Amino acid sequence: MAISQVQNGVANGDAVAAAPAELDTQASKLTINLATQLKDVPPAAELKFGQVLTDHMMVAHYDPIHGWSAPEIKPYAPLSIDPASSCLQYATNVFEGMKAYLGPDGTPRLFRPDKNMQRMEMSAGRVALPPFDTNELLKLIKKLVMVEKRWIPTVKGHSLYIRPTIIGTRSSLGVAASDSATLYVIMCPTGPYFRSPRPVNLLAVQEHVRAWPGGTGGYKLALNYAPTFKPQQYAAKLGYDQCLWLLGDKITEAGAMNFFAVVRRDDGDLDVLTPPLDGTILPGITRDSTLALCAAHPSRTTLPGLDPSIRLHTSERELTVPQLAAWADEGRLLEVFSVGTAVVVVAVGRIGFDGKDITLPSYEGSLGPVGRGLYDRLTEIQEGRTEWDNWSVPCDS
Ligand SMILES: *Cc1c(COP(=O)(O)O)cnc(C)c1O
Repeated sequence: MAISQVQNGVANGDAVAAAPAELDTQASKLTINLATQLKDVPPAAELKFGQVLTDHMMVAHYDPIHGWSAPEIKPYAPLSIDPASSCLQYATNVFEGMKAYLGPDGTPRLFRPDKNMQRMEMSAGRVALPPFDTNELLKLIKKLVMVEKRWIPTVKGHSLYIRPTIIGTRSSLGVAASDSATLYVIMCPTGPYFRSPRPVNLLAVQEHVRAWPGGTGGYKLALNYAPTFKPQQYAAKLGYDQCLWLLGDKITEAGAMNFFAVVRRDDGDLDVLTPPLDGTILPGITRDSTLALCAAHPSRTTLPGLDPSIRLHTSERELTVPQLAAWADEGRLLEVFSVGTAVVVVAVGRIGFDGKDITLPSYEGSLGPVGRGLYDRLTEIQEGRTEWDNWSVPCDS
């Protein structure tokens, strides 16, 4: 509703209304122009997240007269951008984060990639960037992964990180929707996000807010991240790894990860809690998968290492820092962890709040039984070692 109003508003200007109706980045029109000189793939142990990009990228351009150009896979290279471009001036810049994992048969696999495509479509729509065919984009990503297969580390816990991006390229300083865009996909090999399996420590931040009701926190827009870097630096200075983003005393997210707490109920069962998707929370695919796998324990599956007599009740509900502290004092707070594509599941060690630390339960190897079971099951599914609801999709299909 709100979004369609925004788009109608734009139509008064000069941008989206002129767009042709049929828009797609047709994978069948793909041209592939391979690099003549290939980079050395760094040894898995030396990988730092996001530093070495692979040899090729996929690019397609959109303009209001021709629609989408034929997509191209070509050698990785700088883009040429007009300094007045919408993305540089007004942050029309959308991204996704996904990974390709090597299956036991050596075929690269994606994890619930349709979800990334849907989310990217939503994000692009929110900043009035032109629509694209999400099925075609997924085909193109699979092709690019197959081209770059040699970059996927064969070491366990490693993968190829994929960064689909769409930017507004209208070159005019007029404050209006971008009627032109460039969609591209770049990739980098990656190891475990946090090398040592130690917990992350969070600084609860109240004076800076990541997302607010009616804002854009529920979309993967670049503009949501720039304002988080300064508080993040401050947290690091105080010895914390990430900010715990709050709204008042309500917990929203931890860094760029979704937040979970496991609390023992009066009847002995466990509640697995995470804040609801009220527009201030990024609808994480790992979050959704975590909820689904916990809800399936023990009726459809048992999480690795977790006793089937333990019953998990998932609930999307408001969580506050004082409530968390009270549960910790009562000994009912069993686990706190964060989830996302980069980390999969990571334990939270302590939360700094109001000049004090809330100490959370600690476990050998850092994750508690629920977090550990989830981590093991999620990575099994991602790497194609366990089948679950067609979540893992081979790239050669
Ligand atoms: C990307 C992201 C997540 C995690 O989403 P996944 O789909 O699980 O990777 C969580 N929070 C924020 C703010 C994010 O940008």
